[in-house]
Amino acid sequence: MFARVRLFWFALGQTFMAEWVKYKFGVAMKNKFEKVWKLFDEKAPEKNPVFQDAKIAEETGEAVGLVFKLAGLRRENYDIEDIKRKLSDELADIVITTFVCSKVCGVDLWQAVDKKLDTEIRRWERFKAST
Ligand SMILES: [Mg+2]
Repeated sequence: MFARVRLFWFALGQTFMAEWVKYKFGVAMKNKFEKVWKLFDEKAPEKNPVFQDAKIAEETGEAVGLVFKLAGLRRENYDIEDIKRKLSDELADIVITTFVCSKVCGVDLWQAVDKKLDTEIRRWERFKAST
């Protein structure tokens, strides 16, 4: 009986800790995004939405080139782990430039992402793979 109670409290504690870490991670990430925006807003001489949109395309193009390498679509030899590291950097650049673009354009990226994630979850939950 006591072992079950201890196991219950241990599991509850673990769950609470995991949620707390996720929450703290989310807050820290949000603060970093806001800091990037604050610095950009203070120091970038001009905030042209078309330029920000082009920056997303630039970063996306860099990621596409690396995915081609990862998929073996380039006739070159490379270190796959190095390509994966570079790809993760480029994917992060896409997220950051997208965030800055959303700020320049005056739209709430996180609200839109939250809404779109709900849509994607519902879509995948209804989807049945053909057999
Ligand atoms: Mg880049």
